Amino acid sequence: MALNLLVCQNLSATADEKPILHQVDLTIGQGEVHVLMGPNGAGKSTLGHVLMGNPTYTMTGGSIEFDGTDITELAPDKRSQAGLFLSFQAPVEIPGVPLRSFLRAMVEAHGTKVKNKEFKRRIQELARELDMDPAYLDRELGVGFSGGEKKKVEMLQLLLLKPKLAILDETDSGLDVDALSVVSRGMELYRESCEGTLLVITHNTRILEHLNVDRVHVMVAGRMADEGPASLIDEIDAQGFERYENEPAEQPARSIDG
Ligand code: ADP
Ligand code: MG
Repeated sequence: MALNLLVCQNLSATADEKPILHQVDLTIGQGEVHVLMGPNGAGKSTLGHVLMGNPTYTMTGGSIEFDGTDITELAPDKRSQAGLFLSFQAPVEIPGVPLRSFLRAMVEAHGTKVKNKEFKRRIQELARELDMDPAYLDRELGVGFSGGEKKKVEMLQLLLLKPKLAILDETDSGLDVDALSVVSRGMELYRESCEGTLLVITHNTRILEHLNVDRVHVMVAGRMADEGPASLIDEIDAQGFERYENEPAEQPARSIDG
């Protein structure tokens, strides 16, 4: 049994005073690969944001322990420095700032001092491994980048920071074939380089093909509805989430086409 890296207990959260997460438990062992699945609007992204400390959401109950420390009250930047990473669904665009400078500032914000030459070599090498044209490193961050290129930036961040836990929130929309293979490759490299722990939020189980999934969690209507081994992915692929949604849990009324 792996050491617990993340222990999240009884976590409840609201956005705009609307309850979204209800008593969520989630435990992730060091070095494991976990997948979080669930229908649209279930609260998956919200959980990622709450774990990261995004102030848009208010934690109304529960606790988050990360790497042996209670981080429930910790600010987002401190959580990031402690080794938590959340991929952005809408990567930033910063006109005037070259990608290279942005990556360097990010690494330095994490307290890592790197020599210019060494850093240059390192990002060039990573860009190559991700099949990214090194000319991109001198382009303005995010400006005019395709979906696949934005994903490459995200994977560069992941591979430079080597966080202890990477939460990758991969909505189906916006992930074209290119972006999918970038994410898949990035996750592989992350696993190879530091045996990093992963929580992958996705419907698109194709990006999981090259990973050994340890555990699958199913979230429905802001609650953890199921948990199981990797085979649960195939069951859900075949049957969808209906079996959970039809359970007589307390759920808000919703229209069929809504
Ligand atoms: P998922 O990622 O599983 O599709 P989300 O976490 O994005 O689900 O959303 C869960 C619910 O919370 C949805 O009903 C959504 O509208 C609501 N929600 C998410 N973020 C906010 C927010 N910032 N303000 C208000 N409601 C939000
Ligand atoms: Mg989402």
